[in-house]
Formats: sequence, C-alpha cells, structure tokens
Amino acid sequence: MSAGVSTASDLTRLTAAQTGAAIAAGEISAVETTRAHLERIAAVDARVHAFLHVDAEGALAAAAAVDARRAAGEQLGPLAGVPIAVKDVIATSGLPTTCGSRILEGWVPPYDATVVRRLREAGVVVLGKTNMDEFAMGSSTEHSAYGPTHNPWDLDRIPGGSGGGSAASVAAFEAPLAIGTDTGGSIRQPAAVTGTVGVKPTYGGVSRYGLVALASSLDQAGPCARTVLDAALLHEIIAGHDPLDSTSIDSPTPPVVEAARAADVRGMRIGVVRQFAGEGYQPGVQQRFTEAVALFEDLGATVVEVDCPNFDYALPAYYLILPSECSSNLARFDGMRYGLRVGDDATHSAEEVMALTRAAGFGAEAKRRIILGTYALSSGYYDAYYGQAQKVRTLIVRDFDAAFAQVDVLVSPTTPTTAFPLGERVDDPMAMYLADLCTIPSNLAGNASMSVPCGLSPDDGLPVGLQMIAPPMADDRLYRVGGAVEAALRDRWGHLLIEEAPPL
Ligand code: GLN
Repeated sequence: MSAGVSTASDLTRLTAAQTGAAIAAGEISAVETTRAHLERIAAVDARVHAFLHVDAEGALAAAAAVDARRAAGEQLGPLAGVPIAVKDVIATSGLPTTCGSRILEGWVPPYDATVVRRLREAGVVVLGKTNMDEFAMGSSTEHSAYGPTHNPWDLDRIPGGSGGGSAASVAAFEAPLAIGTDTGGSIRQPAAVTGTVGVKPTYGGVSRYGLVALASSLDQAGPCARTVLDAALLHEIIAGHDPLDSTSIDSPTPPVVEAARAADVRGMRIGVVRQFAGEGYQPGVQQRFTEAVALFEDLGATVVEVDCPNFDYALPAYYLILPSECSSNLARFDGMRYGLRVGDDATHSAEEVMALTRAAGFGAEAKRRIILGTYALSSGYYDAYYGQAQKVRTLIVRDFDAAFAQVDVLVSPTTPTTAFPLGERVDDPMAMYLADLCTIPSNLAGNASMSVPCGLSPDDGLPVGLQMIAPPMADDRLYRVGGAVEAALRDRWGHLLIEEAPPL
C-alpha cells in the first residue's frame, strides 16, 4: 500500500476511478480492496440490508485473478479489480437470483447476463446481489419478500426502489459501484434519495440479455456510483451492441467517459420541464433544483423553460403499459420451470400446482399488477386501456422531439420529495407510484437520463437529485452536464455530497 492509503476504511472511501488507478499502479491489490469492502459489508449491512447475497469467496477469487493478471504484466482496464454490487434481477451464473421474490427463492441461473459477463471480462469484482422490490415493482424496496433496505442517511427512511439495495450499497460505502435496472425510475429515484449518481442509458444501449424482464419495452440496466466519472467508466464497460438482445442498438456507444472528463456546459441549451413543478413538490427539493438551474447559467449555459404537455399523462399510461407487459412476462413463473413449487403431490393437478405456487410465491404488488395487466389486455378492454396508453406514449415521444429541437438537455427534480419514512406509503399504491412522476417519461420514450446529487434539502437535510434527460444515443450529454454540476458543487462545498462513509 502507498503511504496515502493505509487502512481498510481508506480503501472503501476511494472512488472507483481512484481504486482502479491505484490497482493499475500497483499501490493496492484487488484482493485488499475487495476484502475492505467485504469487511464494511460485514460491519454495516445488518442495519442497511442492501445485500440479499454476498459472495465473499467468489469475489476474493475474482480479485486474486486480477492481481495475478497484473503481476503477469497484462494491461488491464480502468475498473479491473474494482468491486461492484449487482441488483438481484440480473442473472449471475452460480449465484442466486431471486428478484426479491419468494417465487425465485433458491434459483441459481446457469448463465451470466451480458452485463455481468462484460463486468467479469473487464476484471470488475462482483461482491454479491442487492435487494429490490419484488420483480422491480416499487419505489421503496418495501415490496421485497426479504425485508426492506434502509437508507444510509437515515435508517428509518426508504432508500428508493426498486433498486434501493444497489443505491444503498454505494451510499453506505459497501461498494463503490452497483448495477441497477430502470423501468420507470428504479435507478434514478434511489440515486436521488441516497445522494448518489444513477443513470438510465438509452433504451437498447445496454443489453437486456439476462435481465429478468419486468416490462420489456421499458427495462434498461445502468450504473450506480458516487461520482459521474465512475458512472461513465462503468457505462462504457456494460454498453454496446449484443446480438443476444434483439432491441440492442448496433452503433457505437456515445463517448461517455470523455464527456464526464470534459464536464463543461458552456454554450449548451438547457430546458427546464415546466410540468415538473408545483403542487406535490417538496419546497426544499424545489429550492435546490432552482439553485441548480441558476448554476447552469453561471457556468455558461442558456436556460429556457420547455413545455411538455403530455407528460401529465405519462404516469397513467405507464401504469397500463407496465402491468400489461408484466402480466405476460411473469406468466413464466408457474412452479414448473424455476424456483418455488407448491402442492407438488398426487392430490393436485398441474394447473392447481401453478395456481398454488403463484398464490404463495408472489407478493401483493406483483399480484395487483398481474391482475391489472391481464384486465387491460383482455378482449373488449384492449383498445380502451392498452391501446390508448400506447397512443399517449407516442404523444410523449413527440413532446420530447419538440423539446430537443429547442434544447440539448432537459432538467427537472428527479423526485418530487426526498426519502420518505419506511412504512409511510407501503399501503398506498398511488402515493408510492407518484415517486416516479418525473422519471417515467424517459422510459416511455426510450431516451437517456441521469440523476446527480444537487444538495441536501433545507427542510429535512436529506439528499435531492437533479434529473437530466438527453435524446436517444446522446447519453454523453448527460455526463457532460452532470460532470459540470458535480464539479461546480464540489468547489462550492469543498467536497462531494457524499465523500465520507455515513456513521452506521
Ligand atoms: N417504481 C416504478 C414501478 O414501480 C419503477 C420500477 C422500475 O423502474 N423498475 O414500476
């Protein structure tokens, strides 16, 4: 170890970029940093519950392999030896993948998702699998069958969802990086409420092969990190064409790392979405957002207000399209092929086994959406519900097209409020759904979006996220703008929003 990096807690404090550089320079080993993160998990995860499964043995073996390759003189990538946490909706060969559901308890996939394969090839060390709302439905992780994750900023509050475990693992310094999935906001909303960076890449920019599908036309995997550069380094590894995903885009990944390093908004046109303000928005969130908008002007960007009138219908359209797709996707969990099987004895027919398994294996929110989606797709209702929602989706795409004819990037608060208390919305689906009001339009349109921390809300001292949205395959603009905001705020505060591990 070098003189500057001397203890295990120092190793968990480093950014992913710093860790990768220190490993490449031979100052620290991949095994040392992996061990430090495993120790941090052992020390705090009983309180945070970010992980559903920790693979200490596999992680240390992967780290040792990176160290051996480096010792043999091999030139390794920028994140070789850096630990990562992976959301439990992503298939990992030999490691359990439950999707936060009882119905997949004990299921171990026989293959890696493309995202995971690319991570392993880049020498990134998988620490384990993170907690989530069941099948990625929710905004708080309270719909996990394995108990909620706690927000490291305040253990009595939600870490966001569905990828609350991934965001919390990064915010608690249990991992410098994590992978999430975002169907309606599940990377960005947890990032906002935990003070971390979360990115939903362009739909088709990152392979969906091996992601357990929630809503196939909306799902997208992406990075969770503590800095914009770390997110970019991770983005570059997981993105790119994959013949195993028919919706994967066959063109080069936008230059996200270069953009994160440039971090310059001079001459850019930034549009403030008029629809994402007003009633329901916490005053402290609005205040920090207004300050971030003023910051853009200070940094040399032009700011204008942009009207996206159909965004008002995004949430209702999403809650028809998502349940429709999910009712079809979740039909495969029938007690025959994967995980749980109930009533498998001579007294029950195959149909009864399927019904008993699904009744016991799915939680309330999954059942609610399966029933809703089956209804929306049924003959006689299809045109009125699913068909209508698809038309709204087209109108939202047109709103974005009109907006991006005027501006380079759109901005809004990521979430209307900061982290709410655990238990507050769990029995009120509408209140829970409102957490994704600002994030959903990007999933419906398939464009790229990021949340970066823009301060602590003056009314409750909790993190506020700034959302940026760019056209499809212009993900680099997010990194350019996000990097500039991060650098300007770091100068103002003298540190990153989270630079120290929270005292857990
Ligand atoms: N919270 C949203 C939902 O419940 C988003 C989920 C997601 O992005 N996976 O559908």
